[in-house]
This record gives sequence, structure tokens and C-alpha cells, in this order.
Amino acid sequence: MTGKSHDVDVIVAGGGMVGAATACLLLRCGFAVAVVEARQPPRFDPEGEPGMRVSAISPGSARVLDQAGAWREIEKRRSCPYRRMHVEEAGHPDGLDFESVSFGLERLGTIVENDLVQSALWSVLENHPLVDVLCPATIQSFHEIKEGIEVALSDGRRLRARLLVAAEGATSPLRRQLGIRQDVWEYNQQGIVCVVTTDPPNPGVAWQRFLPGGPLAFLPLADGRSSMVWTRPADEAEPLLSLPDDPFLDVLSEAAEGGVGKPVAVGPRAGFPLAMRLSECYSSGRVALLGDAAHVVHPLAGQGVNLGLADAAALVETLLSARHAGAEGNVPEQLTKWQRWRRSESQVMAGGTHAIRALFTPSALSGIRAFGLRQVGKSWLARDFFIRQAAGLGRNAPRMARGDSLKALLRLRA
Ligand SMILES: Cc1cc2nc3c(=O)[nH]c(=O)nc-3n(C[C@H](O)[C@H](O)[C@H](O)COP(=O)(O)OP(=O)(O)OC[C@H]3O[C@@H](n4cnc5c(N)ncnc54)[C@H](O)[C@@H]3O)c2cc1C
Repeated sequence: MTGKSHDVDVIVAGGGMVGAATACLLLRCGFAVAVVEARQPPRFDPEGEPGMRVSAISPGSARVLDQAGAWREIEKRRSCPYRRMHVEEAGHPDGLDFESVSFGLERLGTIVENDLVQSALWSVLENHPLVDVLCPATIQSFHEIKEGIEVALSDGRRLRARLLVAAEGATSPLRRQLGIRQDVWEYNQQGIVCVVTTDPPNPGVAWQRFLPGGPLAFLPLADGRSSMVWTRPADEAEPLLSLPDDPFLDVLSEAAEGGVGKPVAVGPRAGFPLAMRLSECYSSGRVALLGDAAHVVHPLAGQGVNLGLADAAALVETLLSARHAGAEGNVPEQLTKWQRWRRSESQVMAGGTHAIRALFTPSALSGIRAFGLRQVGKSWLARDFFIRQAAGLGRNAPRMARGDSLKALLRLRA
């Protein structure tokens, strides 16, 4: 597949969950890939304490990770499927319940530690003959060459490819070098994360309460504990992060008002500043921006990495269609097509989470909130649309997310 003038077909900058998944999918389609990652990825320890950073992986994303060759390993190690999701507003504990069976789904999602997702993907990479993993390394500069792109690495090496994927996260240096503008909304909030033990244990429910300062979520872990994500105004987050465990548990119990159980123990805490970032475009010439490099959304809907995995699946599907159509050479045109698809999808998701966040700010009228929740609760269509989008199974989801295997896509004619 690689032409004489190229060392590999695709260079992927950033081996986080999105970059590593992209590389695995490309490799499994026969593309030669180089992965350039700045830091040695964390090793997952199945005997260790659960990590603080987890993701709610949608059923669509689980299929993408399966096609990438990582899902079995993830499920075998440590993951927690959830079949019920409860959403409520403080003071209105009735809230809304979503059950997977009502939507014909086996599960609504799976809570997985980020380190496990990344390390399962890296096991696939490290065992593949068509990959060149360059780590630690970064891309210093790049320029277009005839029918390709050449990059200069931090260690002085040069690499040529047909396509460069930028998946280096929210601060993507490649995006900055390309001069791609972003719309940025700083929320002046932090997401506090930690592992919480409750009494009784979490029965496998993804639970979320909207409080005046931001949502509080308890996501189920395999051992009955919960991964907590609590959005707080930035000036309130710092004191909460530095509180000793017992007073923190008191504040948490009051905020959760029962929730999935009384919080009785808490692990180390960390805070992440929250912002929404949307790039004006996701590609330029032969460079594609994927995952957080292209878009960052508020974590209240748990969609960041799910959007990134859909970007990866959609990119691979676009490249395969071009291959089938004999139009493999025209990478910029393929990327334009791909970004039109993915940009509209992530803008819908980003706009949705932005609006929900605004609806639950203290200045929004409580009556409007209650009305909104009631309408979603009453309308089967609204509930179905909401769940299908969150499950990664919407109308515009990549075929892999909707159940097509890579083998089937490799056979498919454009
Ligand atoms: C509190 C919180 C909770 C969240 N919960 C969820 C959730 O439940 N579900 C969900 O879908 N999303 C969730 N998200 C979002 C999710 O974590 C991100 O969308 C996801 O991690 C993005 O993955 P990525 O691979 O694009 O970027 P990153 O995870 O940032 O990975 C980027 C990689 O690139 C490497 N890198 C950086 N610079 C360079 C460089 N110059 N050269 C080479 N490599 C480089 C980094 O070392 C890293 O490995 C949450 C986010 C927060 C803050």
C-alpha cells in the first residue's frame, strides 16, 4: 500500500485513546502506520486501585474498539456495563430513568478506566508488524511534498506519509501550527473526579443530579464503587479538592442526598478545568484533527472520547471508500468529505451539552428546567433520540458503530 516515496501511509501524532484507536483501525485495514507519542503511556495494573479517569463508553464506541482489536481485552480486565441511567434535578428526586431494554439495547454504556482503554489499544499496536511506534517523540515541523507530507521529529528523524492525523489532545501543537482557529467557551468550572465507596454499593446505575453549581455524577465501577465527576464553579472547586476526606464526604453526602448510596470512603481527588472548544475546521490539506484536538465538550453527557472514536471510525470508512473507488491519491478531498460529516455531528453534540449546562446554571429559571425535563420524560421520540445519540447509534454514526465489521467494510464497494 505504501508508495516508494513514502515511509508509511499514515502518521498518527498522539497515542491517547483516540490516536491509538485510529492507528489500530488503520493497521487492521492494511495501512502502514507510524505513531508519534510524546509520553510513555501508563501501564494498566489489574491488581491496582481503579484509576481516577474513567469514560462512559457508548455501545457504538464499544463496537469501534472491538474492530480496533481492544474491546475483548478491556471487558476481560475491568469494566462495568450499566443498563440504567437516572437523571434528576436537586429538589426533584423523581427525575428521569432510562432502561436499556426500553430502547432495545443490551446496555446503555460501559464504564472503563481511561488507562485500560489506552493500554489495551497499545497492546494491539505493539504486536502489529505494520506499525512503527515512536515514543517518546514529537513532531517539530511538517511540510507538503509531492502527493504526501513530510514531518521532522524531535530526534532529528524525518518521515513521509500520505496523511497526517493530529490526535494530540486539546492543546494540539499541530492544530496551532496549521493556524486553525477555535471557538472557546471557558466555563469557569472544574470537574472534580475521584473514586467513592457508597453504602450500599452502586447497583450498576449511572446516576446524575443537576445541582445549582453543576452536575454531580456517580458512574458504576466493577467492584461496586463509583467514579464520581462533580462539576463545581472554579472558586469552589479548589477548597473542595483540599478538604480532608471526612469533611469532603459530609459535603458530598449533602449534595448527593442519598443518590446511589451514602458516600463512606473516598480516594484521591483531582480537578480538571472545563471548557468547550470547537475548531473551525477539522482538516487542512493532508492533516486531519481527531478527538480533543478538534473538539472538546463539557463532560456532563460523557461524550468526549465517544466523539473522538466516531471520528476515527468515520475517517477509516472514508479512506476505505476512496480505496474502493480507486481515488486513494486524493487525500485532501477525502478529508474535506470526512470533516463535513464529523464536524456537523460534533457540533450537534457540543451544542446540546452546552445548552443543557446553561439550563442548569443558577440563573436559569427552575420552572423552565422542570418543564424541559418533563417534556423529555413524556415524549418517547425525544427519549429515543437522546438515547440513540448518546449510545453512538444515531443516523449519521459510522457504519462500524452501527455494527458493520471492518471485514465487511473492506469488501464493500463505494
Ligand atoms: C472530568 C472529565 C470526565 C470525562 N468523562 C468522559 C466520559 O465519561 N466519556 C467520554 O466520552 N469522555 C469523557 N471525557 C472526555 C475525554 O476524557 C476526552 O475527550 C478524551 O480523553 C480525549 O482523548 P484524545 O485521545 O483525543 O486526547 P488525549 O486523551 O488528551 O490524548 C492525547 C495524547 O497525545 C499525546 N500528546 C500530546 N502532545 C503531543 C505531541 N506534541 N506529540 C505527540 N503526542 C502528544 C498525549 O501524551 C496523549 O497520549 C471526560 C473529560 C473530563 C475532563
